Amino acid sequence: MPHNKFFCPHCNANLNPGTKVILVIKSRAGEKGLLMLSAQVGNYSVMLPRKDFIKCDDQVEVTCPCCGELLHNENDDQFAVLLMTCGAKMSVVNFSRRYGESATIVIRDDGEVRKYGEDVSRMDVPEMTDVASFKGPKNSLA
Ligand SMILES: [Zn+2]
Repeated sequence: MPHNKFFCPHCNANLNPGTKVILVIKSRAGEKGLLMLSAQVGNYSVMLPRKDFIKCDDQVEVTCPCCGELLHNENDDQFAVLLMTCGAKMSVVNFSRRYGESATIVIRDDGEVRKYGEDVSRMDVPEMTDVASFKGPKNSLA
């Protein structure tokens, strides 16, 4: 089975060079730290800099560790957004910025939408610009 690879939609950096997806988050106190997520969509195990770095229900600011750009979905900022490739398929992955909320919406470049997580049923699919229009890593796959 092909391996999921995650990319920043701004700078195209690969965000899971190892097994974990690495992002920068900011605590409510303004402290920055690394958040590590599973590369498996729908797996909500996370690693924080410290156990108390953020609290349940905090809406965290998520930025790219490479370019520092905000990764929030411009059309629906309750989600952070990453690009994901699995083999030759590209998707936009939206996941809730609220810590403790399990909700992920994956929109594939062929328009197929998949939802993951126990909290996703009350979320609307965010308006997306055409997934294929992300310059993304697709070009580098050819
Ligand atoms: Zn970036």
